[in-house]
Amino acid sequence: MVKKHNLGYPRIGAGRELKIGLEAYWKGKSSLKELKTLGADLRRRHWRDQSGLDLIPLGDFSFYDQILDMSFTLGNIPERVKAYSGDMLDTCFRVARGRSAPAADEKAGFSGINAGEMTKWFDTNYHYIVPELSADTGFTLDASRLLQELAEVKSLGITAKPVITGPLSYLSLGKTKDGSDKLDLLSGIVPVYGELLELLAGEGVEWVQIDEPVLVTELDAEWKDAFRRAYDGLKESPVKLLLTSYFGRLGENRELAAELPVAGLHLDAVNGRDDIESLLHILPSDRILSLGVINGRNIWKTDLNTVLDWLEPLAEHLGDRLWIAPSCSLLHVPADLEREEKLDGEIKSWLAFARQKLEELSLLAAALNLGRDAVRDELDSNQEAVEARQNSPRVRNPAVREALAGIRPEMGCRKSSYPVRAAVQAPLLKLPKFPTTTIGSYPQTPEIRRVRRQFRTGKINRSEYTDAIQREIARCVREQEALGLDVLVHGEAERNDMVEYFGEQLDGYTFSDFGWVQSYGSRCVKPPILFGDISRPKAMTVDWITYAQSLTDKPMKGMLTGPVTILNWSFVRDDQPRSESCRQLALAIRKEVLDLEKAGIRIIQIDEAALREGLPLRRSEWQEYLDWAVECFRITANGVADETQIHTHMCYSEFKDIIASIADMDADVITIETSRSDMDLLDVFDRFNYPNGIGPGVYDIHSPNIPGEDHIVALMKQAARRIPEERLWVNPDCGLKTRQWEEVIPSLTNMVAAARRLRIET
Ligand code: GLN
Ligand code: ZN
Repeated sequence: MVKKHNLGYPRIGAGRELKIGLEAYWKGKSSLKELKTLGADLRRRHWRDQSGLDLIPLGDFSFYDQILDMSFTLGNIPERVKAYSGDMLDTCFRVARGRSAPAADEKAGFSGINAGEMTKWFDTNYHYIVPELSADTGFTLDASRLLQELAEVKSLGITAKPVITGPLSYLSLGKTKDGSDKLDLLSGIVPVYGELLELLAGEGVEWVQIDEPVLVTELDAEWKDAFRRAYDGLKESPVKLLLTSYFGRLGENRELAAELPVAGLHLDAVNGRDDIESLLHILPSDRILSLGVINGRNIWKTDLNTVLDWLEPLAEHLGDRLWIAPSCSLLHVPADLEREEKLDGEIKSWLAFARQKLEELSLLAAALNLGRDAVRDELDSNQEAVEARQNSPRVRNPAVREALAGIRPEMGCRKSSYPVRAAVQAPLLKLPKFPTTTIGSYPQTPEIRRVRRQFRTGKINRSEYTDAIQREIARCVREQEALGLDVLVHGEAERNDMVEYFGEQLDGYTFSDFGWVQSYGSRCVKPPILFGDISRPKAMTVDWITYAQSLTDKPMKGMLTGPVTILNWSFVRDDQPRSESCRQLALAIRKEVLDLEKAGIRIIQIDEAALREGLPLRRSEWQEYLDWAVECFRITANGVADETQIHTHMCYSEFKDIIASIADMDADVITIETSRSDMDLLDVFDRFNYPNGIGPGVYDIHSPNIPGEDHIVALMKQAARRIPEERLWVNPDCGLKTRQWEEVIPSLTNMVAAARRLRIET
């Protein structure tokens, strides 16, 4: 019998109950007890959702983050919170957020500490709390969370498989601040895992899922050796270990994975199908092979018959040794499609969220165990949906295909080189030295949100909406003129989100109402769904921008989101390469760029906030991605005349590995995040002789602090040591939409004053 199991389930709740519960608790509006009860309810509900499976994950639930939970399980708690003696969950929130619930903190006479660093979970949009490590980090077991959940699951009569992060991935995801070698900690951490496994065995646990996603990344000899040592140290463990990798192929780590002394191996058979054949030759004959056959990263129905076509011979060969599962934890997909009532019926019939993915899994298992005929009706209706999607005229647009085939390299090239362009633009724009600007958005006030909501729900009509937004734009322009900024923006009042705004106006996109995916803690994102060929029925921003330009003599910067960022923040189609979807987006946004230019807009910014995060997990694959990503940006941006100035913005500061590609984009100006690194990161641009304009952010918009004029002057002088001053711009790190006007005005006042001083002092 082929077993079916799951690696992890969305924990936020189909109605985002956990988010609501957490935020109420943090605001002091509910008690810790209520929060814990909610957690237990959600766990119970989610286990019931999965009750048709042979093995159900346990320990994948978390009030904040599973890696932070693992740190607590291993007793690796940052020194700065050890003194607090409250409830462990509060301590956990203190690490995650720098504080717990206000009431609890008040009682403890406590006023906040540094939050733990948060970073992206592999190539997903989930963020985890980075384990803090140093040469003298010690580990001691605290299994209380897992034991409590085991007790809960037992009372439901369900067989669960605890999920833990393996020692190598745990260490690899952690950071040492003292420059010590993380692998020195291996001998201390492995015995704690040993103890945990023993304890779980004592509770009657048979299988433990031990996640080692670093197995899909490049590992050097030292780390491979560490894998061998660690798992050798666990081989006497009384439970069976399912060594679990996901998010990609094992590739050159295949041999390593196959030789480790564990009872079973799970691999991502969606992205790593090629691994299977050679793995079968080297996998010891007593190993379970679990194949992740349902994509845990997208929202499309699986083509079940096609999966069965290649799975059946494997099932024949492996017999009881074959398990099936989703490719990775379902944390990365929304909970339940059934909640979607407004979603277009045709498109809805093509989709599967977490619950539906588990139904697919059950169908596959039934077909393998009982024969396809046992589930013929279900397979037929799946086939029908898959074919309907393939053949739908809404997915393929011949005009878009033709335009794509017509892409020529010249389309991505400016007419002249940067120095020539700069010389043409200067007399037109008449900008001073150290020109000042902002990144696009201004405070999204409650008033702005209300107007957008009223329009969405039909409480006000289009002309009332236009009037209200224009009033906001006018205010924003007035404020910027009063501040004395050189290049103005319209402020983005009409945008709820920089991707959704464009997705809503492009053909080929659709939106769910409840398709939330956890990003970190209580924060969720609802990625738009890119389902078909992309086209732009009409201009998307031109009216707002030209209105804004009509109010001022200063240059008004048009504001667009770039194709790579739109792609990386969407659920994308699986029936064509990402690069192709991206080129379609590029052609659509290019039209917008050209329309803005035609409407007399002289500066156009194309944000690529998510370009870097699209980098593949293996370095060896970076260049291929960067090549098409840069090509797409160039197609979007570079069709303009020399007179038009192109800006781009990236809100991060690590450019070391991608500087050549960034230069290749050939934007006239790039604005980046720098304020927290004291301009050191400009060294990368300096060493590369980055040829075009740069606006290194002079203050951190994530903080409510008002930057001082002197501080900004000092930062810019440091910048000028690396980049010739005629190519420097002065701007904040990122958009201002999360700030209040009361913070923005003094901050920008200081920024403009600093720029004026720089013009004299340098
Ligand atoms: N133009 C966007 C803004 O100012 C850029 C946001 C971003 O880079 N994340 O909000
Ligand atoms: Zn930004």
